Amino acid sequence: MRTEQKKIQRLAIANRGEVAVRIIKACQELGIETVLLHSEVDVQSRAYRMATKTICIGGASTAESYLNIRANIHGALAGGAQAIHPGFGFLSENADFAEACVQAGLIFVGPSPESIRALGDKVNCKELAKVLGIPLVPGYEGENQEVVFLVAQAEKIGFPVIVKAAAGGGGRGMKLINSLEEAKELIESAQRESQAAFGSSKVFLEKYLDRAKHIEFQIFADSIGQVIHLMDRECSVQRRHQKIIEEALSPSLTHAIRSRMAECAVNIAKKANYKGAGTVEFLFQDNEFYLLEVNTRLQVEHPVTEEVMGIDLVKAQILTAQNDFVLTQDRYRTAHGHSIECRVYAENSYLGGMPSTGVLGTVSFPEGPGRRFEYGFEKNDTITAHYDPMIAKVIVWDETREKAIKKMQQVLSETVIFGVHTNIPYLQAILSHPEFILGKMTTRFIETYFKDPIKVRELSSMELKMIEQIKKEMTHLKPTGANENPWSSYWRGL
Ligand code: ADP
Repeated sequence: MRTEQKKIQRLAIANRGEVAVRIIKACQELGIETVLLHSEVDVQSRAYRMATKTICIGGASTAESYLNIRANIHGALAGGAQAIHPGFGFLSENADFAEACVQAGLIFVGPSPESIRALGDKVNCKELAKVLGIPLVPGYEGENQEVVFLVAQAEKIGFPVIVKAAAGGGGRGMKLINSLEEAKELIESAQRESQAAFGSSKVFLEKYLDRAKHIEFQIFADSIGQVIHLMDRECSVQRRHQKIIEEALSPSLTHAIRSRMAECAVNIAKKANYKGAGTVEFLFQDNEFYLLEVNTRLQVEHPVTEEVMGIDLVKAQILTAQNDFVLTQDRYRTAHGHSIECRVYAENSYLGGMPSTGVLGTVSFPEGPGRRFEYGFEKNDTITAHYDPMIAKVIVWDETREKAIKKMQQVLSETVIFGVHTNIPYLQAILSHPEFILGKMTTRFIETYFKDPIKVRELSSMELKMIEQIKKEMTHLKPTGANENPWSSYWRGL
């Protein structure tokens, strides 16, 4: 049954960058005004210029602004919003934030706090999956957190083993243990990292699958509780467990396996009384699949699904939040063509991905059929080291995977971004690799073939000077612990 819900007239955005722009565009089409909740330093961005209203909610550090629940709620109320869209990363999977929104009389664009708790905690999610008979990677996810006990469990599972934070995400608190000798130290370090990043030291263990693909299903639960799936994406091209290139559909699934995985994805969402958009992630190896986790939010790579399924997921989320959206699986039985997304990062491909900051010069994306650009920054905007280094997403659609790869190569070669270095040369090298072209890549693709910085040309003395300058700037900007990449602690792998 559909319950009455007031119409959203103004929606607050608890996020920044390209996803904030994406949400504003959806709102514009729905006739909804927007309030951008931003940090002190984020006043030079497309979202800042496009929002109906902007409210500064705190300092540059994410703890003061984008991760501050009270500041976001106060900002939304002060801006006269009836709803909050959390985007991805930051507070998007925080059940306490969803609850605080409800308590403040705001509509949270996402699932209920209960659903987030049931699925967002990786251990709770695995418990639910077990009840439903969904295959899991062999491991230990019990209550006993004594290090000696966990080491013994790791030995029992058989090395290599991966230790992960129960409350984790973005690859933080996750370590690969190759042998018994290093188990104790790595488990302790994962516990410490998890405590610092997520406020809980609880970890669990999984057998490390060394030739797996990352394949995930987009699920959607509408206003009357119907849960459907919108097919799959493959995100095996990852660096340090972070996705770089994603595509829909996966080139690796047979119809039979796709159906079985989709059924598992829908079942777990139903079990958790899900609402809105979510993603059920799996590892796929030797024709078997294993549930990895459920992300209770919009995913960075959602555009590839939108392209092949013909849906606007952000509008669907907002309409669902105001109880105004009913879907039928029949409309979404097949995908149309193939879509690929590349994440463009401000970093230097020739220096192993060293972050690159500065004021953007000319930025030009080559428009054309089946080309889509999601970006948050334009000429004269500053890319700072305070936040995630992703500056844009380039998405292409074409009739076949082969044509989509060719189109992506063409689009990247015509894309102009001046002022900062980007990973475009790195993306181009990946797209030309035979294993990628054949669709055979596993999550170890990058570490196997692109371990070293790509070598295309010698750097000029001028570039070397610039690098020295950037290094100096980075030591001044360092908002995190010593010897840390200033971006690493805010980087959310989504
Ligand atoms: P996070 O939530 O921190 O992103 P995930 O559990 O989703 O962590 O895993 C992220 C990535 O790490 C996966 O896509 C995969 O590449 C790798 N990974 C995680 N667990 C395993 C495993 N048991 N075996 C092999 N690779 C894994």
